[in-house]
Amino acid sequence: MALRMIREFGEPVLEKKAKKVKEVTPRIRELVEDMFETMYHDCGVGLAAPQVGILKRIFVIDVDGENPYVFINPEILETAGEQTGDEGCLSLPGKTGTVTRPQSVKVRAWDLDMNEFVLEAEDLLARAVCHENDHLDGILYTSHVEGPVRDVEELMEEAEDTEA
Ligand code: ZN
Repeated sequence: MALRMIREFGEPVLEKKAKKVKEVTPRIRELVEDMFETMYHDCGVGLAAPQVGILKRIFVIDVDGENPYVFINPEILETAGEQTGDEGCLSLPGKTGTVTRPQSVKVRAWDLDMNEFVLEAEDLLARAVCHENDHLDGILYTSHVEGPVRDVEELMEEAEDTEA
């Protein structure tokens, strides 16, 4: 396992459409292991392959540190409801913005054994699936943001000022 370099906002690879995976090879397994390690290292809840410079339709998610999911060739089948909340991205470190996403999604994908599964996700998991799935189409959350993209540090300072 190894950490991979996370590509940051402005790098063209983040704006390209990723290609479908035809077969889960040992290299793909290694990529997925590395993606988990990189995501946990940077305290993220999700990471898509284009964020480490690989244009393949793969992302990993773990919203509570206990339930790692791998999605290969994911497809969002259904969405329902709405949730509005703050979102961040490992490709835009220190930034946050408000994004409205579906409250729940039904997503179909392959696991590492190329078995198809369907997952019904809600709340933060649904938000993460939508965010990561967007990465596979070269879309960043900044294109959905309502209002400005803010600095997390600034927001924390403002919160401190209010408390004082
Ligand atoms: Zn992201």
